[in-house]
Amino acid sequence: MNHTPTFSLPLPMVDLAGQYAKIQPELDAALLAAVRKGAYIQGPEVKAFAAELSDYVGGAQVIPCANGTDALQLALMALDLKPGDEVITATFTYVATAEVIALLGLTPVLVDVRPDTYSLDLDQVRAALSPKTKAVVPVHLYGQAADMEDLLELAAENSLAVVEDCAQAIGARYTFSDGRKAQVGTLGTIGCTSFFPSKNLGCMGDGGAVYTKDAALAERIRMMANHGQKVKYRHDVIGCNSRLDTLQAAILRVKLPHLDSYIHARQEAAERYDKGLKDLPGLQIPVRNPSSSHVFHQYTLQVKNGQRDALKSYLEEKGIPSMIYYPWPLHEQPAFASDRYPKGAFPVAEQLCQEVLSLPMHTELTQEIQDYIIHTIQSFYHS
Ligand SMILES: *Cc1c(COP(=O)(O)O)cnc(C)c1O
Repeated sequence: MNHTPTFSLPLPMVDLAGQYAKIQPELDAALLAAVRKGAYIQGPEVKAFAAELSDYVGGAQVIPCANGTDALQLALMALDLKPGDEVITATFTYVATAEVIALLGLTPVLVDVRPDTYSLDLDQVRAALSPKTKAVVPVHLYGQAADMEDLLELAAENSLAVVEDCAQAIGARYTFSDGRKAQVGTLGTIGCTSFFPSKNLGCMGDGGAVYTKDAALAERIRMMANHGQKVKYRHDVIGCNSRLDTLQAAILRVKLPHLDSYIHARQEAAERYDKGLKDLPGLQIPVRNPSSSHVFHQYTLQVKNGQRDALKSYLEEKGIPSMIYYPWPLHEQPAFASDRYPKGAFPVAEQLCQEVLSLPMHTELTQEIQDYIIHTIQSFYHS
């Protein structure tokens, strides 16, 4: 490489400004139009976006809300659980998944994940069932679906609600063994997603949505997201204030038609990383769940032989950022500490927290940038 690179160092982890620049005229016009209309809360863009996203996910009802964490909270509120009821979820996830369970006075019951796809370990879910178990929250981590078919069967046998955390996987499609395909978030009882700026469909602030095909649940969630009211100032249930801003909805309406091309760009980038990194003996490239497409919210390696932190520092010296999602499993977090989880309780998650490393992944990655990243990683192993 003796030509001058067209990128500058340090590289960004994500390039939201670059993505904006490509749709700037459209986006500016939509924003300004919404600003001029003046209906900043529950404006017409919110309803229109909900309808468009509903079409995109195959017809489930979509209830926009303030963020992905609220989406999870609203989903659990709508299930009408009692204090002390147990909700099973993964110990290897973002804190929001389990936080809302505890916040509602429910008991989060954490279990380990599979070492390949990071899906809930179903044997552990089975072992964690108790008469108090009322729901299970699978997480479609990094952008591909968890093992949903078996989980849905287990949930049906035990009358459990399934609340999908698809904050990282919007647009991923799951294929059932009979060939039927469906979008993540529409497979279980309720689906929850996030429009945090760096998510695959990001707005320019906070945003989220709840999906459900159950009309009664949809009505309840819609009410709960708006102070428990259907009729203004008439409060049927205890709710909260969790609405998607009109301006964010206007942005999301412009970006939703680009989501599939954004996903495609991420998948192409993932393939380039795969090709360059698959033969390095100290690295495990992302393992695909054969039943799901992968929308690559993150491109996450497992760095073996205790070399993760050394590789991370080496990359940093060369101007390449990388992130650890997540450095600790939830059962090792002070906030979730419990006698249920002695040290070593979930060895897979504990090891993953020592080995995972996510590389820059976004819609604006070029072959040239990736060649630089790939060559740098190769040189770490060959020096
Ligand atoms: C981002 C994220 C959330 C929370 O979404 P916010 O919009 O940030 O509240 C929940 N779960 C997972 C797995 C996430 O990645």
